[in-house]
Amino acid sequence: MNTLLLPAAHPDTVKTAAEIIQNGGLVAIPTETVYGLGANGLDENAVAKIFEAKGRPQDNPLILHVSELAQIQKFCHHIPMAAYALAQAFWPGPLTMVLPARLNVPRRTTGGLSTVGVRCPDCDVTREIIRASGVPIAAPSANISGKPSTTTAAHVLHDHDGRIAAVVDGGPCRVGVESTIVDLTGERPRLLRPGGIGPEELLAVLGDLVIDRAVTAQIDKDAVVRAPGMKYQHYAPQSEVVIVSGSREKAAQYIHAHFQPGDRVLCFEEELPLYEGCDPLSYGQEAHVETLSAGLFSALRELDDPAIHKVYARCPVGGGVAYAVQNRLKKAAAFRIIDPEVDA
Ligand code: AMP
Ligand code: MG
Repeated sequence: MNTLLLPAAHPDTVKTAAEIIQNGGLVAIPTETVYGLGANGLDENAVAKIFEAKGRPQDNPLILHVSELAQIQKFCHHIPMAAYALAQAFWPGPLTMVLPARLNVPRRTTGGLSTVGVRCPDCDVTREIIRASGVPIAAPSANISGKPSTTTAAHVLHDHDGRIAAVVDGGPCRVGVESTIVDLTGERPRLLRPGGIGPEELLAVLGDLVIDRAVTAQIDKDAVVRAPGMKYQHYAPQSEVVIVSGSREKAAQYIHAHFQPGDRVLCFEEELPLYEGCDPLSYGQEAHVETLSAGLFSALRELDDPAIHKVYARCPVGGGVAYAVQNRLKKAAAFRIIDPEVDA
């Protein structure tokens, strides 16, 4: 199969992409979070192709992308007021809500669950493609399962060239980490995955929020969990990643004392001068945390190299999107965190 590269601004792109979706094919779509691997979310056979292309476990559900808030009533029932309040505050945007699924949503899309994740992405071309297709687009991140997510069309082609019908090139993703996921089907709203919308922002609208254990700790792969995606290994380059916490100076001392040839350092731009001789890679500025979220997955992809032995990574502190960056880095590091004050 010859994978078409469709520029977002080209006048035929929306029509071409929508036709592929209607015919049951796969199109990688840009969003403000990451590139998604999209198919008609109501067509079981089309959805099966997503799982196959990614090598994704069948019980890891997909997110249904809609172009308008009103559409969620077609696919969800018992929608609480909180969902409308969140949509009003954050849609279109990087927030996925888990709601009870209607029976027209195939269980293949929901990973066998009776709930479904819905999101309205903040990306004009993708909302136009959804509108023109006339169906919601089911899409997980477009990476091969377990690998760092795709934040450019080139990342998507690296993973899927020749195996999907098309990639819509909308440039690099603005947020760079996947959507925040909130489950609204329980007694209390529950954060299943941090993302572009921080927990404080959710709390300000909801007045209550439980942080699921899948966010803060490694989950056993046989566990029964509310966020099925969270029990699988994620975002991991081939090398061993360890986070080194603490102050700039203490972390640099620790890393210099333990650095071996073949290791790399993943740090903030402000720290580059501290790591001369250690082949450091910056993923953004600590002072502008949105540059860290935007740059993280590209950097993890660059470090996905069997020649690299160990990656010492620096992680931002704080809430908002920094909380999502911490979560992705901790998962990439399988929760290996060194505190130089304690582990020196
Ligand atoms: P991805 O964006 O590739 O990480 O895939 C979608 C994410 O949404 C996965 O982590 C899923 O586990 C999560 N998700 C989608 N639908 C649901 C749902 N109904 N309940 C819980 N998590 C969901
Ligand atoms: Mg993913």
